[in-house]
Amino acid sequence: MNKQSSLLKLENINMYFKLKNGDELQASHNVNLKIDNGEMVVVVGESGCGKSTVGKMSLGVLKPSCGTISLDGQDIWQKGFKWPAKLRTEVQVVHQDSFSSLNPVKTIFQTLSAPLLRHKLVKNKKEALVKINELLYSVDLTPVEYFIHKYPFQLSGGQRQRVSIIRATILKPKLIVADEPVSAVDASSRLSILDLMKGINKKHGIAFLYITHDLATARYFAPEGRIVVMYLGRVVETGKIKDCISGPAHPYLQALLTAIPHSDPQKAKEPIKIPLKSFDMPKATHPPSGCVFNPRCLYATDICTKEVPLLEKYRGRQIACHNKEDIPGFKK
Ligand code: SF4
Repeated sequence: MNKQSSLLKLENINMYFKLKNGDELQASHNVNLKIDNGEMVVVVGESGCGKSTVGKMSLGVLKPSCGTISLDGQDIWQKGFKWPAKLRTEVQVVHQDSFSSLNPVKTIFQTLSAPLLRHKLVKNKKEALVKINELLYSVDLTPVEYFIHKYPFQLSGGQRQRVSIIRATILKPKLIVADEPVSAVDASSRLSILDLMKGINKKHGIAFLYITHDLATARYFAPEGRIVVMYLGRVVETGKIKDCISGPAHPYLQALLTAIPHSDPQKAKEPIKIPLKSFDMPKATHPPSGCVFNPRCLYATDICTKEVPLLEKYRGRQIACHNKEDIPGFKK
C-alpha cells in the first residue's frame, strides 16, 4: 500500500447513463471523494441526487464514464489491477433491502459459512459452526441456536440486517459501503443497527461510506466524521459533519436540515417553513444551466443561471455557491 494514498479515492468522476428514450442522465458530475483508513464518511441527499451511484462506483460495480477510482493508490479500472478479487475482500456492502440481499433458500449458517470456507478462514463446517456462533452472539442474535438454522424470511428486517452486517465484516474488509442500511428497518431497531456499525468501526478500524437521505441518522452515525452533500449529481457542500450540520452554509443543506422534524413535541407542532422556492427537483436528464439548484434557491442571482459554481474552500469546509458570502443562517 502506498502510505501517502487514501484508502479509496474518487477523482473527477463523471457518470452518464444513456436512457431508452435517448436522453442522457448525468448521475455524477465532477465528483471528488476520498476516504482514509478507519474514517466515517456520510453521503447525503434526496433520492436521485447520485449518492447510490457513488456507492456502486466505490464498490467497483459501476465503471465511471470518466475519472479515476483508486483503492490503496491503485486505479481499480487500470489493466493489471487485481480486480475484482481485491475489491471483493477489501470493500464490502450492506444494502438497504436485507431481504433481497440474502439468499432466500439458504439458512443463516449456509450464508455465513460460505465465505469462511471459500477464503479458508476455517478448516471445516465444524469450525465454521463455532465461528458463526461467536459472530451471531457478537451482534446480539441470541439465543444463537434459535437463529443459526433459520431462513431469511423467518427473521425480522432488523435481524436480517444484522446478518448482512456480519457477512460484510467476515472477510475483515477495509471499507464497508452501507447504502441506506436502516431505511427499511423498524424505527425501534434503527439506532441499534447504527450502534452496531459504529462499534465495528471503533473495534476493527473498518472505514464506512454511509449513504443516506436522512440527516438525523447521519449525525448520529458519524458525529466526528465527514459529510458530502449531493444535489443532482454534484457535491454542493462537504466538511466535518458537526460543523456542516450545526452551521450549514449551502442553501440546499439549510433546506434539508429545516425539513427534519423537531424532537421537542411543542416545537414539532409548529408548521415547518422550508427555505425553498420550489419542492420539485428538476429532471436529472435536463439539469438547469449554471448552478443546478437555482430554480429552487431563494438566494439565486443572475450569475447562478449562467455559471456553474465551483466547490471551493470556505470557512473550514468546501461549498459550491456563487453567493456564499451573502447566504443568511450560516453560523460563522
Ligand atoms: Fe443558490 Fe446561486 Fe448559491 Fe446556487 S450558486 S446555491 S443558486 S445562491
